[in-house]
Amino acid sequence: MMDVPAHVALRSKLPAAGTTIFSVMSALAQKHEAINLGQGFPDYPIDPALIDLVAEAMRAGHNQYPLMPGVFALREAIAAKAARLYGRAYDPDTEVTVTSGATQAIFTSIQALAHPGDEVIVFEPAYDSYLPSVLAAGAKPVPLPLTFPGYRIDWDRVRDAVTPRTRLIVVNTPNNPGTSILGAADLDALAGLTRDTPIVVVGDEVYEHMVYDGARHESLARHAELAVRSVVIGSFGKTFHATGWKVGYALAPAAISAEIRRIHQFTVFTVSSPMQHALARFLDDPRRYETLPAFFAAKRDLLRDALAGTPLELLPCAGSYFLLARYGRVSDEPAAAFAQRLVREIGVATIPLSAFYRDGTDHRVIRFCFAKRDETLLRAAARLAQLRARD
Ligand code: PMP
Ligand code: GLN
Repeated sequence: MMDVPAHVALRSKLPAAGTTIFSVMSALAQKHEAINLGQGFPDYPIDPALIDLVAEAMRAGHNQYPLMPGVFALREAIAAKAARLYGRAYDPDTEVTVTSGATQAIFTSIQALAHPGDEVIVFEPAYDSYLPSVLAAGAKPVPLPLTFPGYRIDWDRVRDAVTPRTRLIVVNTPNNPGTSILGAADLDALAGLTRDTPIVVVGDEVYEHMVYDGARHESLARHAELAVRSVVIGSFGKTFHATGWKVGYALAPAAISAEIRRIHQFTVFTVSSPMQHALARFLDDPRRYETLPAFFAAKRDLLRDALAGTPLELLPCAGSYFLLARYGRVSDEPAAAFAQRLVREIGVATIPLSAFYRDGTDHRVIRFCFAKRDETLLRAAARLAQLRARD
């Protein structure tokens, strides 16, 4: 332990940022040997074919710096997927950038596009990295609440919040933690609102392949008017169950991508080479992502059915791999306290939704991650069956 000299005055750039709620709950889960349905990561193995492809890439000598915007074959494969799914042709040369996870794509896009004094609209509950990314850029976050309990965007509120200083609007569909999705009418509203403005839309679409019940993912890429002013962000960690790989990407028109790359090349410069080569080949077969909605819907339904007998009130889940529950019938504790007690006394870790609001707004909701083995979900549900309604 070393003491920093007193005259080395440190002024934090993110004074309000503590340890993320995901790390806090995962550490607590480990300490109490609880089943971890908190942090969003799978507890089952990835496809062995993907592991083989990484080994092959390493043996083939792909162990040095790849090109700054990403391995070209992967950029081509990402562009082909966007064309196939969303009918939009991104140029792999100038409009696709491979990043170190979606987190870096979000951070880098915001650094590249928001200047000090600019306003950035984000919706709360907000994925935890948005606000710090805006603050690190010296820009001003403008948090707007999603409706409760539907977690939808109230477009009238957005219209009222837009000012001549608004530079970015960050949207997340499917939504984490809201589990809602944007529909075609939402994208039209967003297009109408940004028309004739300098606003760039940052679309966090990491759960693009986790949309259920026959709905389709409305990517910003699909919308002609929005695509030309948007950054569309994806994550292979989510799509191929490999959150530890940290490979994601940003799709944007060339002029926007050029600015993103200016920051990208001086933050990470480039991303792990063998992983990129492996993903490029793995993406060849569209069934690898087309099977995801059925795979995850079955897990969602398994957890929903297993929790049906508890006093938890489950909210609808249209997308993402999270299920939300109101616990008002069990306790009137704040969500953070309730979630911690669940770990200690029931042995199940969750995430309190209050952590996703700057002012700690608390609707008494917790989040379960269902990207887990069926057996894990059933064991967690068996523990949660101990919960009793207050009278
Ligand atoms: N955005 C959202 C909405 C997420 O849930 C996550 C992580 N689960 C990320 C971004 C970060 O993705 P990555 O792990 O690829 O950085
Ligand atoms: N995105 C994951 C979640 O929402 C966690 C990512 C992280 O721990 N930073 O649970």
